[in-house]
Amino acid sequence: MHVLDVAASLTTPLLPDDYLTYVNPLWSRREPRGRVDAVMPETRDSATIWLTPGIGWPAHTPGQYVRVGVDVDGVRHWRTYSLTSVPGRKDKRIAITVKAIADGVVSTHLVRNARRGMIVRLAPPAGEFVLPERLDQPLLFVTAGSGITPILGMLRTLAARGPLPDITHVHLAPSADDVIARVDLQRLARRHPAYRLHEHHDDRRGIFDVVTLDAVVPDWRTRPTWACGPAPLLDALTARFEAEGVADHLNIERFRPVVAADGAAGAGGLVRFTASDREVEADGATPLLTVGEDAGVLMPSGCRMGICHTCVGALCGGSVRDLRTGEQIEGDPDDPPHIRTCVSAAAGPVELSL
Ligand SMILES: Cc1cc2nc3c(=O)[nH]c(=O)nc-3n(C[C@H](O)[C@H](O)[C@H](O)COP(=O)(O)OP(=O)(O)OC[C@H]3O[C@@H](n4cnc5c(N)ncnc54)[C@H](O)[C@@H]3O)c2cc1C
Repeated sequence: MHVLDVAASLTTPLLPDDYLTYVNPLWSRREPRGRVDAVMPETRDSATIWLTPGIGWPAHTPGQYVRVGVDVDGVRHWRTYSLTSVPGRKDKRIAITVKAIADGVVSTHLVRNARRGMIVRLAPPAGEFVLPERLDQPLLFVTAGSGITPILGMLRTLAARGPLPDITHVHLAPSADDVIARVDLQRLARRHPAYRLHEHHDDRRGIFDVVTLDAVVPDWRTRPTWACGPAPLLDALTARFEAEGVADHLNIERFRPVVAADGAAGAGGLVRFTASDREVEADGATPLLTVGEDAGVLMPSGCRMGICHTCVGALCGGSVRDLRTGEQIEGDPDDPPHIRTCVSAAAGPVELSL
């Protein structure tokens, strides 16, 4: 018998993990946690949060994100943040860099209230927005605002390994003061001649137009590209790369789901959360995740944009519409489809297993 099984039989009904967690929250393997070690302000509305993750934390690949569970006013919220630190540090710490958005529950809480010693939940690193093993072509990075974060992780890791390869980086921000990690980026540009940083500040030059790429990076069509930023920028880049026949060069990370335009919203209706025994009227545009959270239902949640599958619930009756595609999904009490509540809205009455 495994030693943990023996311990489990002695500690029933609690599990050994529960006792270990009392002694040190970072020892839980069942519910991995992280302890805030330092909060470093970046700009007036962003901060880098250094965390020591619990035992058994896997190393990430630069560009990946981590899901963080944060308790705000007694309610646990899960949000996703890109890792900005170099993986495999000797002190085992990891960093996320968070920009507080207006009315943002978690981002504002982390930037304004996170303190050394605070404990958060962590889910293992994930994500496909990573560089290939071999970098044998000149690259292009296009980032805006907090969209710099996954690229920061990549740049720092590459620079820790040796001279940076040929990279042109176009970074957009409302002003110079709003550039996250500006000192770091400029230091990289000074030390690594092959890394060329072009900052674009809206207050001086107006809103960036992707046509500008021709002037700033004349060979952009030949460069595999990684881009992260607000939807209008990513949509404009996608359209440009498609129009020029180089769409397969473009790798994109979105922080928010793409919502289909006209006609995607469902009709709305009465939503019943069966396990929680709650009923609430919902419109046809609000994700059921938000509808449930607002109604006090304990909703599982993750990336909040339909990629991580953490927020799924069984659709036992009624119908929902996928806000990204407009597709209507019908419930079935005998064989209920599993829907992602973060990107599904009511299209009539809804019965959800949550
Ligand atoms: C793969 C991935 C990686 C991410 N990496 C980072 C990162 O490194 N740093 C970082 O700061 N954020 C990152 N985000 C965004 C982050 O997960 C949260 O969405 C963001 O912090 C807002 O959460 P909140 O609780 O403060 O806002 P909420 O309380 O959820 O929302 C408040 C209001 O803001 C709107 N809103 C939600 N998210 C955004 C957003 N990103 N931009 C503008 N408006 C928004 C909502 O529609 C709502 O109206 C990432 C998201 C994903 C999916």
